Amino acid sequence: KVRTRYAPSPTGHLHIGGARTALFCYLLARKTGGQFIVRIEDTDQERNVAQAEQGLLDSLKWLGLHWDESVDVGGPFAPYRSMERLDTYEKYIHQLLQEGKAYYCYCTKEELEEERKAQQARGEMPRYSGRCRQLSEDDIRRFQAEGRKPTVRFRVPEDRTIVVDDIVRGKVTFESNGIGDFVIARPDGRPTYNFAVTVDDALMKISHVIRAEEHLSNTPLQVLLYEALGFQTPRFAHASLILNKDRKKMSKRDETIIQFVDQYEKLGYLPEALVNFFALLGWAPPEPRAEDEIFSLDELVELFSLERLSKAPAVFDPEKLKWMNNHYIKESDLDRIVNLCVPHLEQAGRIPKERTPEQNAWVERLIGLYQEQLRYGAEIVELTDLFFRNQLSYSDDAKAVLAEDHVLDVLKAFQKQVEALEAFRPDTLQQAFKGTQKESGKKGKQLFMPVRAALTGQVHGPDLKETISLIGREKVEQRLKYVID
Ligand code: GLU
Repeated sequence: KVRTRYAPSPTGHLHIGGARTALFCYLLARKTGGQFIVRIEDTDQERNVAQAEQGLLDSLKWLGLHWDESVDVGGPFAPYRSMERLDTYEKYIHQLLQEGKAYYCYCTKEELEEERKAQQARGEMPRYSGRCRQLSEDDIRRFQAEGRKPTVRFRVPEDRTIVVDDIVRGKVTFESNGIGDFVIARPDGRPTYNFAVTVDDALMKISHVIRAEEHLSNTPLQVLLYEALGFQTPRFAHASLILNKDRKKMSKRDETIIQFVDQYEKLGYLPEALVNFFALLGWAPPEPRAEDEIFSLDELVELFSLERLSKAPAVFDPEKLKWMNNHYIKESDLDRIVNLCVPHLEQAGRIPKERTPEQNAWVERLIGLYQEQLRYGAEIVELTDLFFRNQLSYSDDAKAVLAEDHVLDVLKAFQKQVEALEAFRPDTLQQAFKGTQKESGKKGKQLFMPVRAALTGQVHGPDLKETISLIGREKVEQRLKYVID
């Protein structure tokens, strides 16, 4: 029975790397008819951030990654928040202490720091020396009298080769002698990540631990704990690193990439585009679709397997994401795209928050005009800038067009036609162009380019008649006059 889990620590917003991990967990569970669990790992309280848990869940939900068990819906292995599971961890820590597989360590931070420095000075890999392994009763009494609060350390067996059989990376070996006895419980009893994650994954019957490569070095520690606790180890799959376009490991501080899912949401990206994009970061679909780029969540479920996760790092290309998002924008109903764009136009002060039905109709047409081209919602503001300006700015190409000889004749003829129009609509503008053609003797590009350049300041753009009718008569007349005079 497949059971996967995404186990974020509530330290911030849902990161793109985390979203990819969650997606892989989700896909495997759905593909196999298993369960997808979201567990909150909040024992590292110093790093917890208020509201982060809710934000993480909201972002996962927005992406459409619905879970079967978690903090909100409960489940057979509740609670799903580590801090509510302290009794359970305590029980297993006690068990390891009893069996001599763990021991109390009274070393202070300062002592540990000194030890580390000395090891480094000798050119050794720093690791805990194990000096509290064999404390006498007297030592313990003395430390307690000094008010020292002990941590609990796991007694790492010596001379062992630990093999992590990873689905992505194959057999990865680690030497136990390189791992110092590590802390499994803090002085106040809270377990460390490695301990909590092991107990939780085991008790929640997680079959596949899918997570980022960063955690590979934690895995041998966890494997030792599974063994010591008498639990069966799950399968591990460590997904590849994500690199930025400079092929550097992407970090949360990387400014070349927008890092958090809710930022994409706010910018007007669509969840299906993000899901599609994340899926291809370190995973590839099988033949015959290996070269395809567009996949719905359902198709991904259909095609997914851990065997096609890649060892090679994935490169995060924001331009590709925009391209993908544009694909889904083009496919969507206009209503949805209007809702995606309107908040941005409002925020930019381009349109009032309270609108008449006529204003709304105009806004819808405007957004409709750019649906083909739009890559994300917020982009509507710059794309439609020309509709709101009093003084247009002209691109170099547009300036070049307007400097050509025949241009003034065309514009003057068009001006006359426009002034004579009763209604100002795409179909009547069609008439105006016909009249202009007759009068100026110009047609095709020579007719349309000057008008486009004069009225939009650009030489490219969507449908010209619709564009002109949305600019509106008043601005059109002003702009013609400005160029002609
Ligand atoms: N809480 C850990 C993290 O956020 C989870 C790691 C794991 O999946 O084991 O990185």
